[in-house]
Amino acid sequence: MPIAAQCPNCASNFKAPDAAAGKRVKCPECHQPFTVPTAPKPTEMRTVKRPRTPVQPIEVEPADDFSPSRPKRRTSLVWALAAVWGGVLLLAVVTGC
Ligand SMILES: [Zn+2]
Repeated sequence: MPIAAQCPNCASNFKAPDAAAGKRVKCPECHQPFTVPTAPKPTEMRTVKRPRTPVQPIEVEPADDFSPSRPKRRTSLVWALAAVWGGVLLLAVVTGC
C-alpha cells in the first residue's frame, strides 16, 4: 500500500512507497526535504466514529414538543364550552326560582 504524502512546503500531494514511511524524502515538485508519514489509518478511524454521537439527541427533541401540545388545546376548548353552558344553566336556575 503506497502512503499518501503531502509536501509541507508546496502542499503538493503524491504517493510514497512503503519503504519511505517515516523517512526524509525530497519533494518531486519543489525538491524540499520532508518526512513521509508512517500510519495513514488513524485518520480513517476518526471519521467513522464522529457521526454516531450527534444522532440520538436530535431525534428525541421534536417528539416531545409535538405530542402534548395538540390534546391540551382540544381539552381547553371543551372545558371552556362546559364552563359557558354551566354558567348559562346556573343563570337559568337562579332566575327561574
Ligand atoms: Zn514540495
